[in-house]
Amino acid sequence: MPEYRTTAVILTIRDYGDIDRIVTFYTSDFGKVSGIAKGAKKSLKRFGAALDLFSHVDISFFTKETLSLVRINHCHLKQSFPSLHKDITSMSYGSYMAELINEMTAERVAHRELFHTLIKLLSLIDSSPFKEDYLRIFEMRFLVASGFRPTLTHCLDCKQKLEKGPRFWFNIPRGGVVCPSCALNKNNLHPVSLGTLKLLEQAGNLTLDKIERLNFSSQALEESREIMPHFVQYHLGKELKSLKFLEKIRG
Ligand SMILES: [Zn+2]
Repeated sequence: MPEYRTTAVILTIRDYGDIDRIVTFYTSDFGKVSGIAKGAKKSLKRFGAALDLFSHVDISFFTKETLSLVRINHCHLKQSFPSLHKDITSMSYGSYMAELINEMTAERVAHRELFHTLIKLLSLIDSSPFKEDYLRIFEMRFLVASGFRPTLTHCLDCKQKLEKGPRFWFNIPRGGVVCPSCALNKNNLHPVSLGTLKLLEQAGNLTLDKIERLNFSSQALEESREIMPHFVQYHLGKELKSLKFLEKIRG
């Protein structure tokens, strides 16, 4: 069997039998990959402390096309995110991002931009917890990378550019915004201000090194919280466990 090497983030990890572990990685070169780490509960030499949730690691694994689980050979820690293990809010932010990627990306389809976005956002949460902005930024970039970018710059119906006005309306199934006149007599719309739309649009457009400059006001957070997670779950077709937990701890 050929051996492959890549860098990865650990999305899920669970014990398998007495000494093995099954791990799902999001890798830079192969996308999502699940594998078995034989003897991981005993072999500190091959896996050390690297097999931990959210860890940024170098891995090598053996696989054949016919195998659904790869065989993990080595795992070496590049970067850990200690705050994500100490603080429940940071942990739930990390879990949400990991669950989104795990549930919504296909096995072995690489997406480098999404991989780098994940690392960047985990680092930001690790260094400054409690910034809910990071969840909205991640969702937006995730949607853009997955081809589900919402329409935030013009009205879905009359195509008018959204430039003036205190309030517009987001339609989740249609994935975009309508202007006040097109919103008349329509149901299931979420109010959203121009400032929030601009922030979300920037979250999707800025280069990765500039995203920490974005600052969501409490209004922008309130409005975008009612839209983005629901839009993501609409495309997924089910509820995310981590999101339910996030709502619980916020309540
Ligand atoms: Zn319109």
